[in-house]
Amino acid sequence: MKRAKNKPTLQEADAGLETEIHVNRYRRGGFLSRVKELEPKFPGLKAVLTHDPMEGKTALDFAPDPPPSTVVYAVTAPYPEYKVGPFTLKAVLTMDAAEKKSLWVAEEGLVTRELIEEADFLRCDHCSTRRRRKKLFFFTHEEEEGFTQVGSTCCKDYVGVDVERELRKFGRELEIGFADDDGWDAPRGGPGKVNGLDAEFIVPIAFLYVERHGYTSKKIAREKDTASTADCLEVIIARPHPDDDPELEAERDRIFGAVHKRKEELLETLAAYAGEQRERLEKKWSEFLFNLCENFEYTTLGFAAFIASDIIKKRTKANGNGKPKSKCLDLPLSTKMADLGTFELTFLREEESDWGACYFHVAKAKDGTTVMFRRSVPDLDVGEVFTLRGKVKKHLKDATVIGYPKPKPVKNGKGK
Ligand SMILES: [Zn+2]
Repeated sequence: MKRAKNKPTLQEADAGLETEIHVNRYRRGGFLSRVKELEPKFPGLKAVLTHDPMEGKTALDFAPDPPPSTVVYAVTAPYPEYKVGPFTLKAVLTMDAAEKKSLWVAEEGLVTRELIEEADFLRCDHCSTRRRRKKLFFFTHEEEEGFTQVGSTCCKDYVGVDVERELRKFGRELEIGFADDDGWDAPRGGPGKVNGLDAEFIVPIAFLYVERHGYTSKKIAREKDTASTADCLEVIIARPHPDDDPELEAERDRIFGAVHKRKEELLETLAAYAGEQRERLEKKWSEFLFNLCENFEYTTLGFAAFIASDIIKKRTKANGNGKPKSKCLDLPLSTKMADLGTFELTFLREEESDWGACYFHVAKAKDGTTVMFRRSVPDLDVGEVFTLRGKVKKHLKDATVIGYPKPKPVKNGKGK
């Protein structure tokens, strides 16, 4: 269809400023509080989530890659009604080179579609000079009926204020209101470049890691000048690299394989833990618990490692209830190899020694007899039952240290 010249059609009416803001999903809370803060200054301000790549998916669907981190919000703010003396700016109508019109209105319903469609871009009621204009400002006057339309060059002269500049200021203020040093799409908080992962993704991984290697807090790591669990996790979840150590590759394969196999169990454990913490917080206020609950969904590696170790600690304690108390092996110290009984491995931790990696084992017999020993291979799993030969080296308070340990797994058996 051919369009008549000088008769532009309205393609888009827009009621104010519209901008798209990309927000890191772990900073949504901060972003939405900013919207709330700005509302009194920009009445009618709205932020609507328009794109979320995670919709209908869980973070584990993206493993071993971290889940996509950015969501998109459309932010809109209507222009305020702008008053100058007896004048009120009701609308600004613009037309670009393609004759596309855009409308800004202070209050919907005041400016009719007819007014827009019939708008004569050659007319200015102030100077009455007929020439093509890009922008028309519509004013009402306290003592007059209807609208007056003026072009942008006459606008300042007509009302005595540079209205365009004021409107630009409004837009800039809104921009400044949402300005953020790093940008909203950048993750924030906590050290390390892989922070801002959600708990659903990182805690199960931390859980599997801590189960095998134990937990080293950042404090302990600093004191002992070793790597914290969070540091180790950072390496585990990093994108695989061709130069990676084969041992690291194997550990990564083991963890990601297990995380998928045990996904449901791990997520249930995590949800139960989160519930418990919230219950505890309701009963008694604690700053630490409050932070834990607040940040639960958007955790950092250090926090994930802590949560995992806390879950494991509680589970170990619960498993210990009703079971015999730990005690030493009822045998004298000896430099000779002896059969020591049947045990179940309850704890395994990797340690650095002068001869390379070494594994610290704790195992318990059914009557509570507890033995500790170190080996150079981690071929026993926590929960595995084995018979043990070795030398009785040292009795501690409630456990015995064994030298030259020779464990032999009991096949299909749960001990004697
Ligand atoms: Zn004019």
